[in-house]
Amino acid sequence: MTIWNLGSINADYIYALPHLPAPGETLAARTLTTGLGGKGANMSVGCARAGGKTEHIGALGPEGAWMADRLRSYGVGTTHIATLDAPSGHAIIAVEDGGENLILVFPGTNRQIPPAHIEAALAQAAPGDWFLTQNETNHQLEAARLAKARGLRVGYAAAPFDPAAVQAMLPHADFLILNEVEADQLRDATGTPLGELGVADVIVTLGAEGCLWFHDGREESFPALRVTPVDTTGAGDTFTGYILAALDEGMPMPDAIRLATRASALKVTRHGAADAVPTRAEAEAFEG
Ligand code: ATP
Repeated sequence: MTIWNLGSINADYIYALPHLPAPGETLAARTLTTGLGGKGANMSVGCARAGGKTEHIGALGPEGAWMADRLRSYGVGTTHIATLDAPSGHAIIAVEDGGENLILVFPGTNRQIPPAHIEAALAQAAPGDWFLTQNETNHQLEAARLAKARGLRVGYAAAPFDPAAVQAMLPHADFLILNEVEADQLRDATGTPLGELGVADVIVTLGAEGCLWFHDGREESFPALRVTPVDTTGAGDTFTGYILAALDEGMPMPDAIRLATRASALKVTRHGAADAVPTRAEAEAFEG
């Protein structure tokens, strides 16, 4: 089947600095590294690298064509990425020598995706396909409703966390994934235990501690692999992409989690976001 991912695409501009700038300070960066990022793009690459047939739904500006090319080079379908007359999403990431960082995100075209464009994409979807989304675009809720009505299964990564957006999405989600901080925010917002939200499968990722899977009134814990992290950016997105692709190919959830755990552990040993997502063969061979 196909995974239709309505998601953000960002150019990540990473500047190495001797220290983070103070207000009013002008500072020359030592190096600039440009990469592909944005939660949506990272997840699409995760799905495709895991072997899932993946169609990204999103939007870029005219200067962002290289990002669609890059997505395509990783196996992601880009037919449903619109080109708008506005700047693409990007992130300015300042990293000081000690590793501390400062991030400025400009959503750009990620929040200007025309609803008709999303509808046209989903009109191509078939019952049993997956629809995946996060909170970095516009129209996620309407798209999830439409996807449900067309018989798609809905996966939702509740990040960045927004209590109103997340609660509105819950009735439409078959699969919900969130990190530990987002899980606490959701418990605070709803007052409901994660296993009782009415979502069939809920996964909470716990970084180096692995993850928890809530389903059928039960809670199961899975360990992470032991690695020396160099950059955890996109670990959760890699995990989510891999899980979706594995579920799509019919893998039972515990096996899907174990595969995603390998892929995300390997990702944290590499610098970068979407560009650092491992292939299925690399993930399967990785022992930590
Ligand atoms: P990010 O926002 O950095 O993408 P996240 O907060 O959404 O990440 P995490 O819970 O940090 O997600 O990580 C997702 C998964 O990645 C974890 O469940 C784990 O399998 C793997 N992972 C993350 N950090 C580590 C680590 N230090 N060592 C091994 N595995 C890790």
